[in-house]
Amino acid sequence: MDMTERIRQPHPGKHVSVLLADPEELTRSVLGRALRTRFAVVLEAENGIEALALYGRHRPDMVAATLRLPGLDGAGLALTVAGTDPRVAVFLLGKPKDIVTLMSSLSLPAVRFVPTPADPDRLLDLFEDAARMVLLRRAAGESERLVRFFLDASPHPQAIFSKNGLEYVNRGLLRYMGFVSFHEFQASGLALGDFLLAGETPLTDPARFAQAVLDDPLDREHVLCLTHPRHPDRPAHVFQAAASRLPDSERIMLTLTDITELEYEKRDLIDLATVDPLTRAFNRRKLADVLAEETTRARRYGTPLSVILLDIDHFKKVNDTHGHDAGDTVLTEMARLVMGLLRESDRLARWGGEEFFVVAPGVGLGGGVELAERLRAAVADKDFPGVPGVTASFGVAEYLPGEPVEALVKRADAALYRAKAGGRNRVEGQRLKGSPSPGVD
Ligand code: GH3
Ligand code: MG
Ligand code: MG
Repeated sequence: MDMTERIRQPHPGKHVSVLLADPEELTRSVLGRALRTRFAVVLEAENGIEALALYGRHRPDMVAATLRLPGLDGAGLALTVAGTDPRVAVFLLGKPKDIVTLMSSLSLPAVRFVPTPADPDRLLDLFEDAARMVLLRRAAGESERLVRFFLDASPHPQAIFSKNGLEYVNRGLLRYMGFVSFHEFQASGLALGDFLLAGETPLTDPARFAQAVLDDPLDREHVLCLTHPRHPDRPAHVFQAAASRLPDSERIMLTLTDITELEYEKRDLIDLATVDPLTRAFNRRKLADVLAEETTRARRYGTPLSVILLDIDHFKKVNDTHGHDAGDTVLTEMARLVMGLLRESDRLARWGGEEFFVVAPGVGLGGGVELAERLRAAVADKDFPGVPGVTASFGVAEYLPGEPVEALVKRADAALYRAKAGGRNRVEGQRLKGSPSPGVD
């Protein structure tokens, strides 16, 4: 072996242990001596039972056994070793005919058959090749342990995906899911997607999600929620997701940042800015946005749009007779009642003190009047707690493509005025020029 070869192939046996099992003392001593020149530890056994005991106690990296071993034969020993750790290299030495018979029945990936008599140098070369594999595997295991160590030390919830799917979940994420170890999580029968929600729905393929985050050309913000499938009552956590490729370029690491508090604060702020605190209907500021959006949409797509102004009749008297608190309850109950009768695409806003505003996309004047009539009847039928005989008046207007929002509102207000003047507890619609509708003046 010249110098360069020695550098290229450092002595692989130095940190590797071998178990040698052979009933012949002479074989053991000759082969044992040769093995000792190359391997760190050489254990010797003269029968299968002793070999098994030594294997269990010392867990050598490799086993070399003669087929015809007393007690437990070489094949039995190989089977037991493979059952404990299928990666341990086992060499079975024997007569060519025994080996041919055995090769057809024993197919274990780490078992090699060596016909005897074998050239000792060739035998040692075989062992050294196997020793190289042991060292490679050890190095890979070491780097894997290191990766997991750093992941577990991170305060961020993280998961690693390979092309085979989920490979590891760190302690940070396991804690959120209620597991102490990755092993316990794997044994639970639950998948990562059972915990993670994209919007409202479970994330069916978290590995694909990680890939999509990684590949996002716009580098957008990706948000995930985490709930517990067995404890849906627990509050959900909100995370921002980032993905990066591990240096081995095969695996993707998904890193989550808990933004739950921020998210709840954001929601509170949005709520504060858009919702009327007493009735939970939208406030006027949000209504202006809704009207701008819906009129634009109606104009662009040529779809109808109606608005309804609702004003509680003689509300001043409600306050005067039953007190301001009772008046407040009427307002709250009124909003609840109306919201319950609207479609999902309809919006309700509080327009002023005892006035509400309904935006009904896709609805023409006729439909708007019908809807208002349903609301009117429901209000008149409802028993407001402690306040009998509550009614409301309604003014309906259909959007004229291109008209300013103020003009639309003005027409609804004019219709409402007529409903009040006409005796209250009524619906009036603002007729569009040239399109008379039933029930509309
Ligand atoms: P009309 O049938 O003509 O509509 O008579 P009205 O008494 O309902 O009309 P008006 O606009 O004169 O009175 C509205 C009253 O609503 C005056 C105000 O005290 C009351 N109001 C406004 N906001 C609130 C509120 O938040 N809570 C309570 N309880 N009352 C309110
Ligand atoms: Mg009023
Ligand atoms: Mg009123």
